[in-house]
Amino acid sequence: MGKLSIKDLDLKGKRVFVRVDFNVPVKDGKVEDDTRIRAALPTIRYAIERGARVILASHLGRPKGARVEKYSLRPVADYLSELLGRPVAFADDCVGAAARGAVEGLKDGEVLLLENLRFHKEEEKNDDAFARELASLCDLYVNDAFGTAHRAHASTVGITKFMEKSAAGLLMEKELEYLGRALHDPKRPFVAILGGAKVSDKIPVINSLISRRVDRILIGGAMAYTFFKAEGFTVGKSLVEDNMLETARELKRRAGAEGVELVLPTDHQVVDSFDPLHSRKTIPVEFTNIGQVGLDIGKETVALFANEIKDAKTVIWNGPMGVFEEKGFDEGTVGVARAVAEAAERGATVIVGGGDSVAAIHQAGVADKITHISTGGGATLEFLAGDELPGVAALNDK
Ligand code: AMP
Repeated sequence: MGKLSIKDLDLKGKRVFVRVDFNVPVKDGKVEDDTRIRAALPTIRYAIERGARVILASHLGRPKGARVEKYSLRPVADYLSELLGRPVAFADDCVGAAARGAVEGLKDGEVLLLENLRFHKEEEKNDDAFARELASLCDLYVNDAFGTAHRAHASTVGITKFMEKSAAGLLMEKELEYLGRALHDPKRPFVAILGGAKVSDKIPVINSLISRRVDRILIGGAMAYTFFKAEGFTVGKSLVEDNMLETARELKRRAGAEGVELVLPTDHQVVDSFDPLHSRKTIPVEFTNIGQVGLDIGKETVALFANEIKDAKTVIWNGPMGVFEEKGFDEGTVGVARAVAEAAERGATVIVGGGDSVAAIHQAGVADKITHISTGGGATLEFLAGDELPGVAALNDK
């Protein structure tokens, strides 16, 4: 990686601002999923061990620029303190007297978490004055929030303008290393699996994958229906982006011209729209009638997709194969989770990103088999689409 790393910095006695991604689900003051907090531990421990005064900052949820108690990071400070086995101080605000006072109280090797950055609207506006205030708290800047690196905010981009040194954290480095290798030097066959609701969100990544001559793109989730409708299939009341039909045809043409195989589901789970609770069944895609809604891929498709990644050496997966949140319609996504884990066991590099796909990996109990579980959803997609992430571009070169 061409960017400065935390490993290149002399941290001893320095006030080090570490932008982490602690955007975790919190309910009634309890952290419900600590994956992102654990992912930041190597960087935090690294900084503590080297005697840094560690100032952690993150966003949580969408408070839209106002102080909203349920989005307070205080429960995360308590949780982190348990994980680290040492106190984690908490500042009631990420700027102003509260933040300055808390930073002044820090000794070498101590940790402070600032309150939610998004309690200030200036954060998402990448406001200069706000960024300068954040910068005034510290001597060095480290970005370890890969999941937010595709956003140009004050704590990811603006702050770096006022810092002498801005470096990548260990998690950020690891993400860039795995994704970078998949993008620039993939072992082949290279297979991408894409799902989720919208083709429109994924056009750049599909285009980039086609340009890079990925060997196959397997498409599941509601996205597939836009491709089916574009081909003239009846998709019933399944979710379709009607303004994307021509785009879907164009993507298919481009894939064909570049020798990239686009693989769509052959069967799916449907319900009748007038009796959704009692009509679930699996049918071939071409048998769909106008009253049916497709909500998951079928078993035959899971087997087809598993077969398409059998010889793969690189697999990337982003997006659920169905309405994963609803019981019964998570089977396709969990089935694909098992299939990619098997590919990893056969020696493929398997990278999984995006909330639903990662949840399915955990649900299937195969997380330990996956080569790299990315903490990014949107950031992973933008990176794979070949865009330079603003939060990465803003860091100093080595
Ligand atoms: P995305 O944010 O594009 O990754 O899409 C994720 C969403 O796609 C999830 O909330 C799923 O419920 C939804 N989804 C996946 N497959 C379908 C489907 N067949 N019909 C409706 N929604 C779907």
